[in-house]
Amino acid sequence: MDHWCLQLVIYTVMKATISDNLSRVRQAIDTACRGVGKDPERVRLMAVSKNHPAASVQDAIAAGQTLFGENRVQEAMEKFSGLNESYELHMIGHLQSNKIKDAVSMCGCIQSVDTTKTLRKVSAQAQSSLRPMDILFEVNTSEEDSKYGVGTAEELDALVREAQFLPSIRVRGLMTIAPFTSDKKRIRASFVRLRRMFEDIGMLDVFHDWDTLSMGMSSDFTIAIEEGSTLVRIGTAIFGERL
Ligand SMILES: *Cc1c(COP(=O)(O)O)cnc(C)c1O
Repeated sequence: MDHWCLQLVIYTVMKATISDNLSRVRQAIDTACRGVGKDPERVRLMAVSKNHPAASVQDAIAAGQTLFGENRVQEAMEKFSGLNESYELHMIGHLQSNKIKDAVSMCGCIQSVDTTKTLRKVSAQAQSSLRPMDILFEVNTSEEDSKYGVGTAEELDALVREAQFLPSIRVRGLMTIAPFTSDKKRIRASFVRLRRMFEDIGMLDVFHDWDTLSMGMSSDFTIAIEEGSTLVRIGTAIFGERL
């Protein structure tokens, strides 16, 4: 087979795979929801396309996927700014100050807000761009030293207090990454921790659109759904191993 033909074959197989993977993941979400008596419509599926090319994103869109997540602003701009299709993009990776402007112009939601400094800057940028932003607070629930995510209840309180009075942001909920382990008990404990924080803050009744609990990735989304996730962020199970 010549080179051109081989490329076409590989591309066709990959394309079929992304669409198949998406149906498989959606089906697994349905099953997990049914297992706990939850309406599958209440769990949003995000396709995490980091380290995958724009062509893969287009294939996912062709298969009906609309919500995407990216970790890096620069990569997201290169990939998504040329797309004509309609999509919703969330930033789920650590956000550097000098990227906030681009993130606000490109994303519907920033899920990785974890300091008051970032919170203020996102609010200020959203206000000056006349583009109100949805945000989530990222929490480190894994009891491990992680570089990102709010580490203590006090820090989370501070974010909540600050956010109530900032313009042009709509705080929707919380996001976490479970510990990197095969120990399901520890993974579940991490999700339970986030759900409790979500319920506690919800009880304060300070945010009017407090409805998003973003937890669960390729290897643990079933557990996350059982523990109340409303948005799962799936990369590998849709697009394959990252390049
Ligand atoms: C990469 C990433 C994901 C997706 O991870 P998979 O294991 O590939 O599904 C989800 N959330 C965040 C924050 C990520 O960085």
